[in-house]
Amino acid sequence: MTNKCEFPSSNASASDIASILKNAKTIALVGLSDNPDRPSYRVAAYLKEKGFRIIPVNPAIDQALGEKAYPTLVDVPETVDIVDIFRKPESVPEIVEQAVKIGAQTVWMQEGIIHNQAAERVASAGLRVVMDKCMMKEHKAAFGGSVADIPASLSENANSGPLDFSFDLSAISLEQDSQPDPQITYDLIILGGGPAAMTAAVYAARKMMTVCIITKDFGGQMGDTSEIENYMGFQMITGRELVGLFVDQVKYFKVPIYQGELIKEVRKEQQLFTTTLDSSTAFKSRTVILATGKRDRPLNVPGEKELTGKGVAYCATCDAPFFKNKKVFVAGGGNSAFTAVNDLLKVADRVTLINFGQGWQADKIIVETVKDNEKLHMLDNRQITAIEGAEKVTGIRLKDRATGEETTQAADGIFIEIGLLPNSDPVRNLAALNPAGEVIVDCHCRTNIEGLFGSGDVTTVPHKQIIISAGEGAKAALSAHEYLVRMGAI
Ligand SMILES: Cc1cc2nc3c(=O)[nH]c(=O)nc-3n(C[C@H](O)[C@H](O)[C@H](O)COP(=O)(O)OP(=O)(O)OC[C@H]3O[C@@H](n4cnc5c(N)ncnc54)[C@H](O)[C@@H]3O)c2cc1C
Repeated sequence: MTNKCEFPSSNASASDIASILKNAKTIALVGLSDNPDRPSYRVAAYLKEKGFRIIPVNPAIDQALGEKAYPTLVDVPETVDIVDIFRKPESVPEIVEQAVKIGAQTVWMQEGIIHNQAAERVASAGLRVVMDKCMMKEHKAAFGGSVADIPASLSENANSGPLDFSFDLSAISLEQDSQPDPQITYDLIILGGGPAAMTAAVYAARKMMTVCIITKDFGGQMGDTSEIENYMGFQMITGRELVGLFVDQVKYFKVPIYQGELIKEVRKEQQLFTTTLDSSTAFKSRTVILATGKRDRPLNVPGEKELTGKGVAYCATCDAPFFKNKKVFVAGGGNSAFTAVNDLLKVADRVTLINFGQGWQADKIIVETVKDNEKLHMLDNRQITAIEGAEKVTGIRLKDRATGEETTQAADGIFIEIGLLPNSDPVRNLAALNPAGEVIVDCHCRTNIEGLFGSGDVTTVPHKQIIISAGEGAKAALSAHEYLVRMGAI
């Protein structure tokens, strides 16, 4: 058992966290939104109410919660104790360098943007790294929006300056015992941390199977979704709120979790599966559920990789506010591209939509919503051949596919919205995939390999949605249980 939080790169122990929070006065929130509906705003409001001095850091806003905003951390003219990051993982390393430069004491990363490499850099510079899940209750209270929801022992401190978080720390010991053990052969190993994986874990735990989860992070695509209106039981819920509720439910069943590393490969030998991680750590099981979902499809053009996080973005829901009064491009012609356009038109000066194909593939209703906006320029049958810029995006190189003519247009950024790729790499040498790379499953979530099940967006199941992934996760766990019973293994 370790005295650290469950994230491998958090170097703050339970008692450290209590003292960090007790002693901190100033918290800079990088990526804080000025929209009261956004989770970052609610966290900031909560912290302010608790007596912390909050400093918004966001080039797209002038102020939030009555406090002046600064474009970057290095512009903040006063001492910062904690840097709280609300940006996408790709932006984290740059923010961390700035945190080191200004001499902050602690970097606090939110669940969903955890970046272990950046965390290691923070630790090597002698700063504390706190991962958000170490402060689940504080976070939950902030997301729940009501200080009244905080347990009594916390509320007693509510008006006496920064909180005493000692109450919170008992929850951590539950997580400390819950790392999967490479010596055990599990009934089931679940790969992934999205709705499919988390639902499968709850179903497997309720069947009393020995089960663990291995994932890079928790939430999956749900964490990138601002508002969800089609998950039954909630008229509207933010993606991060729903992730929090799913995680709580998994924790309730004390499912061991290995988090923060990529799964490299799943192999099967003599009825046993071995799941190997990037670090070569390996776990054994009798069954496996692959629930690794999908990732953004890259354009694969020069400049894209180098400028990711410096103007190249993949999630308008997360990053649109950073393009206030800017010239921004969107690559794509389907629903996700038009959704990004819709978000960006609210903040940017000019939005140029570029589609490789002819016409637009999105639903008519969303095209109609934006097409007459005078800030929008729609160009189809164009190929993006390069993204230009040194420190940040300055231009987009375009080829007219009808005439062959090439031009460069000035730009501050580009959102790549050209679809998603299935994360089926760990089983590409084991299971049958369709031409799109999705794992082929039947209606019992069975793959062509006995004991290997698939669920959610990584599979051939149509209609990629949270409720469908959750349902498929449940089905896969029940099928795995049925398989083990039939084998006489449980
Ligand atoms: C911007 C956006 C908005 C959306 N809005 C909605 C909506 O409003 N309503 C709705 O129902 N659906 C919505 N969706 C779709 C929905 O989010 C997905 O269908 C759902 O999240 C899929 O769940 P999943 O568990 O199958 O996979 P994912 O959510 O993709 O989760 C996959 C998990 O596996 C992990 N993983 C992947 N590869 C590896 C690896 N090699 N090693 C370790 N871990 C790995 C990931 O870190 C992640 O935790 C939206 C999607 C996006 C991108």
